[in-house]
Amino acid sequence: MAPVIIVGAGMAGLACANTLHRAGRPFLLLEGDSQVGGRVRTDRTSDGFVMDRGFQVLLSSYPEARRTLDLAALKPRAFRSGAVIRMPDGSTTVLRDPWTEPWAAGSAITAPIGSWSDKWKVARLVWDVVRKSPDEWLARSGVGTLEFLRSRNFSPQIIERFFVPFFGGVFLDRTLSVDSGFFCFLFRQFVLGRALLPTGGMQRIPEQLAARLPAHSLRLGARVSSVESGGVRLEGGEWLRAASVVVAVDGVRAAEWLPGFPASTDWKRTACLYFAAPGRPGGGDRYLRLNAQPGRLVHNVCFPSDVDPTCAPAGWSLVSVSSHGAHSLGAEALLERTRAELLEWFGPQVDAWRHLKTYEIARALPTAVPGNAGPLFWQGVHVCGDHTAYPSLNAALATGRRCAEAVLAGGGV
Ligand SMILES: Cc1cc2nc3c(=O)[nH]c(=O)nc-3n(C[C@H](O)[C@H](O)[C@H](O)COP(=O)(O)OP(=O)(O)OC[C@H]3O[C@@H](n4cnc5c(N)ncnc54)[C@H](O)[C@@H]3O)c2cc1C
Repeated sequence: MAPVIIVGAGMAGLACANTLHRAGRPFLLLEGDSQVGGRVRTDRTSDGFVMDRGFQVLLSSYPEARRTLDLAALKPRAFRSGAVIRMPDGSTTVLRDPWTEPWAAGSAITAPIGSWSDKWKVARLVWDVVRKSPDEWLARSGVGTLEFLRSRNFSPQIIERFFVPFFGGVFLDRTLSVDSGFFCFLFRQFVLGRALLPTGGMQRIPEQLAARLPAHSLRLGARVSSVESGGVRLEGGEWLRAASVVVAVDGVRAAEWLPGFPASTDWKRTACLYFAAPGRPGGGDRYLRLNAQPGRLVHNVCFPSDVDPTCAPAGWSLVSVSSHGAHSLGAEALLERTRAELLEWFGPQVDAWRHLKTYEIARALPTAVPGNAGPLFWQGVHVCGDHTAYPSLNAALATGRRCAEAVLAGGGV
């Protein structure tokens, strides 16, 4: 029997392969790159710094992550809930999370990020989001997040000081134009879970999924050039026959292979710069730092080595600096302006921070296509991946697993 061929070993392709493997169905997973993971990759420097390719976290409350991954085996380390916020006037305030630290409720209520009435509305929002299931929120509302927040009468102050810096970083879009259903889903998952980093970097997640598969079922460096319902062709010309084909690549590539496929060409982009800092400039508080100052290039900063000490050699810290959205700066100008803003924020210690690497990720998060509630079945081919649903690890895992279930059931999605 010809195997099921899965193209792409990102989170979606790996989740699909895991489900087929558990069901005893022969499959071949083809990955064009030299390693698995897709957008979830980690690099290591020769002197011991561990850098994810762009700042990202796994939420412990993601339903599909709980279902698919062995979270404990990832030895996850959690960011502290809450954040340090750099206010529009340049001062900083610590926003503590009253749900994980009830003794800090007083400090959360008095934090100058919004009025008392705003805090009450946040509590109401928490109550509302946890009462519905993730799937109910993920059915789109058709209303953007900013519009939704305004409709709940949040003040411009709390939108500017909390929602834009925090969720602008999650969506990689500070206009908060993302559908409010997705916002409510994520808000819910942040309330119910913690933001985690696996020990040793985010790539440990796809590696865990790949390690469960038989070695002969994964081919790395196998770039596919075209797909049909009966098989795929590799760039070298080799034709591989398949019982079913699953396309688990990004939407733009899927649309090249499958004419008319509904993919968005609009991507959210981000730049992530890493620095090596002597000592412990983050002070070990494990908070994410958010910039609420308007017109800034640096949007958030964190110290991953305060969360996962294996990210930096002894005596050093890893600093991760992110900027979301488009900019027109060349690599040197980006670094120079980032340094200048960090100097203003963290003071002269920044002069001793050594730049390690800059990741410019033009295709970080696909814009969701209205009506796509993946996975999809298109011209006899199964398609999964975050672009078929909503931009998140949870969606990639869930669409991959559901695609495999459709294959096993012998039909389309
Ligand atoms: C900087 C950044 C930050 C993020 N932050 C978060 C976060 O905090 N939380 C969260 O939940 N999500 C986050 N995400 C999103 C998350 O990483 C993605 O939703 C998820 O990894 C998508 O997985 P995928 O399998 O759908 O696609 P991909 O990861 O894009 O995988 C597609 C795979 O197909 C392969 N491929 C492509 N073309 C071919 C070909 N011709 N032949 C063979 N193989 C091919 C690629 O090499 C790749 O391995 C972030 C993403 C980025 C980039």
